[in-house]
Amino acid sequence: MPYQPTLAYAQEQDRQDPLRPFREQFYFPQHDGRDVLYFTGNSLGLQPKSARAALLHELEHWKTHAVEGHFRGEMPWMEYHKFLLPQTAHVVGAKEEEVIVMNTLTTNLHLMMVSFYRPTAGRYKIIMEASAFPSDQYAVESQVRWHGYAPGQAIIEVSPPAGEEYLRSEDILAAIEEHGEETALVLFGGVNYFTGQFFDLKAITEAAHSVGAYAGFDLAHAAGNVLLQLHDWGADFAVWCSYKYLNSGPGGPSGAFVHERHGNSPELPRFAGWWGHDEQERFLMRKGFKPMKGAAGWQLSNAQVLSFAVHKASLDIFQQATMPALRAKSEKLTGYLEFLIREINREEERYHIITPDDPQARGCQLSIYAPRNGKRLYEYLEANGVISDWREDNLHGRASAPGQAGVIRVAPVPLYNSFQDVFEFAALLKRYGNK
Ligand SMILES: *Cc1c(COP(=O)(O)O)cnc(C)c1O
Repeated sequence: MPYQPTLAYAQEQDRQDPLRPFREQFYFPQHDGRDVLYFTGNSLGLQPKSARAALLHELEHWKTHAVEGHFRGEMPWMEYHKFLLPQTAHVVGAKEEEVIVMNTLTTNLHLMMVSFYRPTAGRYKIIMEASAFPSDQYAVESQVRWHGYAPGQAIIEVSPPAGEEYLRSEDILAAIEEHGEETALVLFGGVNYFTGQFFDLKAITEAAHSVGAYAGFDLAHAAGNVLLQLHDWGADFAVWCSYKYLNSGPGGPSGAFVHERHGNSPELPRFAGWWGHDEQERFLMRKGFKPMKGAAGWQLSNAQVLSFAVHKASLDIFQQATMPALRAKSEKLTGYLEFLIREINREEERYHIITPDDPQARGCQLSIYAPRNGKRLYEYLEANGVISDWREDNLHGRASAPGQAGVIRVAPVPLYNSFQDVFEFAALLKRYGNK
């Protein structure tokens, strides 16, 4: 059935939604005695109701067994990182031995660059998207400097054509071609945090490999949002966080992927710690680092059990729902939001969407550009029970007076958002525009 701009239509879609029951597995903040319209799962996902029991279980285990907790129970802490692997592999499309949960995102980005950015006199450039998330920009800049290069010399940023908001795939591929022999690493976000653009990671990987460079991805806004096939695409490495779409709580742990063709090369340089050492010999406490096979060989420290427990509770939900089913709903749900905004825009473009309109080139987020008084719109939404996100416009060097031009990022999340949520949000936008 084609989309319709009515509440009855939205409610009917919810009734037919096979993922509908998952909404009940999450806590929603309250506004005026009802659930808020929560559209910031791209920033901090909602709390799964199962998180509390998972966390209390480990606290109880600690209270009861103390150090023996490492060896006792169904999920002994010694092995804890392993209990997250099947679900993690499912989320990013990898083999279990290609993934690991450890540390936090920016730390893992550095660890991966230690292995996959080893510039030589002739090959020292990193190609990345312009306006990448700041932490990634700082990580890359500091890595480049640490190897003795000036950022302006070694970092090549790909920008959209003048006057456009998101990148063109052909420009990314052309930049890789152009800097080919000098390129050590092509590093992209999976989904850009500001525009919501989902890059063609398979094509980027192939282009990087065809010029002899590595391809690595920061999947902070992609993991749990879009379908990923890291193994089949042949990506060299990837990293992501767990507190955005993966709903694992503030500061939750990060995941990392290392393709099996590297995971089994002990000679690949890395920064090492005891948890990456061959587990058969880990407690012999001998000299001489001998890495575990696979991504596990990049671990530094023993498992952060309390945060991993919450992460596991959340990942288990993803495995139940499955990524293909989530993505199928997501395309419909975000498509519905786009449809409703277009309806409002019919006579005049009140809300300009800067996210690609091709569903294959975006995840669930739409970024709505407000040229004037944007902050006031955001505050109006907030006063009416919407939790969204305001970012001053700084895209590609643009700037305006604070609170004027900016972007409201809206992420309808298929696990817990409904068609009715989207309908009610659009109704508020419409009412605001009519004032
Ligand atoms: C959210 C996000 C981060 C945050 O990094 P932390 O190390 O988890 O604080 C980094 N990079 C990208 C692309 C992000 O979206």
